[in-house]
Amino acid sequence: MRRFLLIGSIILAPVAVLAAMVAADRAFGGPGRGYGYVVTVDLPPPSALTGLPKIDGPMDASRPLVMIDAGHGGKDPGAGTGEIKEKALTLALALALRDELLRQGGVRVALTRRDDTYVTLDERPAIARRLRADLFISIHADSTDGDGSAIGATVFTLSDKGSSQVADRFAARENAADQINGVKIIGQSDAVNAILVDLSQRETQDASAQFAGLIVRESRGAMPFKLPALQSAAFVVLKSPDVPSVLLETGYINNISDVARLTSPSGKQAFAAAVAQAIKVYFARASVGRK
Ligand SMILES: [Zn+2]
Repeated sequence: MRRFLLIGSIILAPVAVLAAMVAADRAFGGPGRGYGYVVTVDLPPPSALTGLPKIDGPMDASRPLVMIDAGHGGKDPGAGTGEIKEKALTLALALALRDELLRQGGVRVALTRRDDTYVTLDERPAIARRLRADLFISIHADSTDGDGSAIGATVFTLSDKGSSQVADRFAARENAADQINGVKIIGQSDAVNAILVDLSQRETQDASAQFAGLIVRESRGAMPFKLPALQSAAFVVLKSPDVPSVLLETGYINNISDVARLTSPSGKQAFAAAVAQAIKVYFARASVGRK
């Protein structure tokens, strides 16, 4: 019995202290506090919850920020049924481009993914906007059902309607990355749809088209293009209203020549140097435009 009393007093002691505190508070409560209790819990800020990617390069926030988006990742392998998966190829190219930009200096660089993780299509432009990126480039590779004779790269900018049936097919394939067993898991927001038709987006569209043209121009001799090299389609990742964005299909994953180019160290370097040069010229023009 004494043991129960002992245990009881141990359990009740904090309760008694709390009761005394409540009584004291009611008797001598501070001004404006009344009888209520405010429980404050420190929550991490929203950005810390989702975790924005790291920015590489100069610490100077006035330097332009390039967002590189390696297509697909994680449970979404992208194109390619053989040994070479699009998700691995796009990541290797994205890292090569990042390294080249950092080597040349002058710009800051961030990646939507740095490893084999799944990032939804909606998240990719959202990350670019939250980091206030100045330019967004999504890197992909395609495959055809045909004999593997299709070869070369294509640069896409956004349109609400594809510029050709081929462009529509590209967009349908890439946009399907957010579908599992045919069920769309991430809804495209009405705001995005509204923005798409907004004329205020025209400036961003013009800048995107300029950048796309520069990629083709600077890639001569480094990367072959499938004609027409410039196309437009309704890619989800290109729908930032205020970040000039392009999607680069770097080649065909089932074409022997394209795969050799995109996986060899010299081919990756040629790709990175060409796109980095296009980025450099783009920002040089943009800074002239601001003066
Ligand atoms: Zn892709």
